[in-house]
Amino acid sequence: MTDLLTPVLSANWADERAWKITNYERTGGYQGLRKALGRTPADVMGTVKDAGLRGRGGAGFPTGMKWSFVPQDNPNPKYLVVNADESEPGTCKDMPLMMASPHTLVEGVIIASYAIGCEAAFIYVRGEVVHVVRRLQQAVREAYSAGYIGKNVLGSGYSLDVVVHAGAGAYICGEETALLDSLEGRRGQPRLRPPFPAVAGLYACPTVVNNVESIASVPSIIANGAEWFASMGTEKSKGMTLYSLSGHVQRPGQFEAPLGITLRQLIELSGGVREGHELKFWTPGGSSTPILTAEHLDIPLDYEGAAAAGTMLGTKALQVFDETTSVVRTTLRWVEFYKHESCGKCTPCREGSWWLVQLLQRFEAGTAVEGDIEKMLDLCDNIGGKSFCALADGAVACVTSAVKHFRSEFEAGYTTPAWELFPYERSALF
Ligand code: NAD
Repeated sequence: MTDLLTPVLSANWADERAWKITNYERTGGYQGLRKALGRTPADVMGTVKDAGLRGRGGAGFPTGMKWSFVPQDNPNPKYLVVNADESEPGTCKDMPLMMASPHTLVEGVIIASYAIGCEAAFIYVRGEVVHVVRRLQQAVREAYSAGYIGKNVLGSGYSLDVVVHAGAGAYICGEETALLDSLEGRRGQPRLRPPFPAVAGLYACPTVVNNVESIASVPSIIANGAEWFASMGTEKSKGMTLYSLSGHVQRPGQFEAPLGITLRQLIELSGGVREGHELKFWTPGGSSTPILTAEHLDIPLDYEGAAAAGTMLGTKALQVFDETTSVVRTTLRWVEFYKHESCGKCTPCREGSWWLVQLLQRFEAGTAVEGDIEKMLDLCDNIGGKSFCALADGAVACVTSAVKHFRSEFEAGYTTPAWELFPYERSALF
């Protein structure tokens, strides 16, 4: 089974000091940068395009294509911003990556900045994860001292500054345009797109915003070539990626494998569902991606496979729930999160998420009345796709998919509280 794994990003995570620059260099670190600097920026961008790398932040937008949208004839500065504000419930791949191997990200930042022609890059990290912020700051300092960042990088004539910026811990600041507002020193709230940041981003200048894992994948692509990367994965979803397994499995954790692996295979790799229990439902990519059931254990976990199953691959945060879990209660917890994190800028999300919580609380308490399911679905219809950003879409995706797959559990909420139907969960919680 372990031959299904392709550790590249996570290759040296077992080494407790993999985060030190000397250890990173000893295992081939910064070779990709040396190669990149010997080539033209356009050539480097072309390799990332040919590799078929798609954004690992959730949406899967082609990375090389995003870079190519940056207008090269624009006289304004260009920026690279790494979105390290990982905060989707269940999503937990970027933080371990930055802790275990921050230089993989730093090297990727330098190569990507070189490719798009920018001289200032920012890594925007959640402020609460102080240990990650410190580790990144340390890595950036080490890279300056080694001549990988700063004036005249490795004597190439190319100069770059990298800033690690700590956010204040708002989920909305993971939305790329809210992140840019926050980075500019304003309250983080989404902007209307288009224009996309690639055209008008930070300080209205062309800005590439990429997820941590996307940028961290770049050094290995440049070092090993586009063909090497494209030889992994499926036709349209190429390369290796980090799958994060959590919940009711024997050994939760990170599993780096080619895109297209199945949950059945990943659960086997993690030792199976916890003893004596069976899988009930799961998320392919955090709580904003519609939930799936045991029927979907064999769908390929790539962008196309997830879409064909009526969901999204998202952040590949596979949260596994067994039969002791109440779908109603889980959905309520997720929607409470979205309600709390809604920035309030647009009405459907601000008001709608509040109303969704009210309704879900009734299903949880067993006090819902006939017609509440339809009311809730109608509400979802008036929130999803009608808001500024994807936060609201995420909030309704878990509700509509939960009703689709487990309608009878919501119907039970007309008479019976969730804690009576799921006593095991109650005993575990209280
Ligand atoms: P999106 O599909 O709108 O955009 C994805 C990226 O492609 C963005 O960077 C955007 O600027 C770029 N893009 C799209 N169309 C473009 C165009 N025509 N020209 C130039 N650039 C273009 O998705 P989104 O709203 O940015 O993000 C939603 C995703 O975020 C969801 O898939 C969700 O899984 C994920 N998500 C992740 C986390 C996390 O913690 N990592 C949290 C919440 C949501």
